[in-house]
Amino acid sequence: MHHPVTTLPPTLARWSVSNTGVPHVHERAGAAPGPEILVTALVHGNEYSGAIALAELLTAGWAPARGRVTLAFCNVAAFGRFDPAQPDASRFVDQDFNRVWAADALDGPRRSAELERARQLRPFVDRATHLLDLHSMHEPCTPLLVTGTLARNIAFAQSLRTSAQVVIDEGHADGVRMRDYGGFADAQGERIALLLEAGQHWHPHAVVAARDTLMRFLVQAGALARLEVPGGWLLPDREPPAPVVVTGRVVASSMDFRFTEAFTGGETIDSAGTVIATDAGRDIVTPYDDCVLVMPSLRQLRPGVTTVRLGRRS
Ligand SMILES: [Zn+2]
Repeated sequence: MHHPVTTLPPTLARWSVSNTGVPHVHERAGAAPGPEILVTALVHGNEYSGAIALAELLTAGWAPARGRVTLAFCNVAAFGRFDPAQPDASRFVDQDFNRVWAADALDGPRRSAELERARQLRPFVDRATHLLDLHSMHEPCTPLLVTGTLARNIAFAQSLRTSAQVVIDEGHADGVRMRDYGGFADAQGERIALLLEAGQHWHPHAVVAARDTLMRFLVQAGALARLEVPGGWLLPDREPPAPVVVTGRVVASSMDFRFTEAFTGGETIDSAGTVIATDAGRDIVTPYDDCVLVMPSLRQLRPGVTTVRLGRRS
């Protein structure tokens, strides 16, 4: 069973035509020079909490005070297939949009709905000094800010002062995420890229978290002052928890995979060797003391799929 769809999907048809010439990609510029910010939503077609926040900004006629903010609805084709009766089914059309962000894939001859769209969006990703990629999660969970491993992104995420758990990870073996693309992964560079996992896809809390993080990101990047944030977007400042460094992941080898408890993420398992799951009868144990569980989910269970990431507080 899927989780209840309590937030309705946004209507995006009116945002198809845009001032950039690329459908569903909108620029808003301030009067003063400033950062080149890209905010992306719908990288996964069924994760529309961020798209609701972007549509609200567009509807309100919002623009930054400084620099340029590009608001992009990414995998609109997958989103167009969203069905509340099968809400997990519209994550992508042909392949995961967030695994195609390597030059050889983007420059290569392969075609897919997601590659075509990524090629359209690539100039906007190439020019961004700051990227915020808005996602949400299969399971109800405290929001996460996924930073990659570079110190500048970790520091930027912590400076937002949200309650989100900062998760330091190396990305995925099966393809490159947008936030790890090109200059965002340059250790000597200055470009900032964060990925927000805002909470359960269709729960109203995910919209609240997306709005709060989006405005904090824009302020921190220099697009507007805190006092210029529209009313109702920000939650109170929080002291973020210590970042978690992802050290590994548990990959299912069978469909007979189950957790020993109803983990929701963020749990700290005290002792190494604690059984947290079984996979075709085989025990899955924690590899070290004080192991933190990150994004446990069996929603997309099949052999080869990550069921939980394991991390250490830094
Ligand atoms: Zn996602």
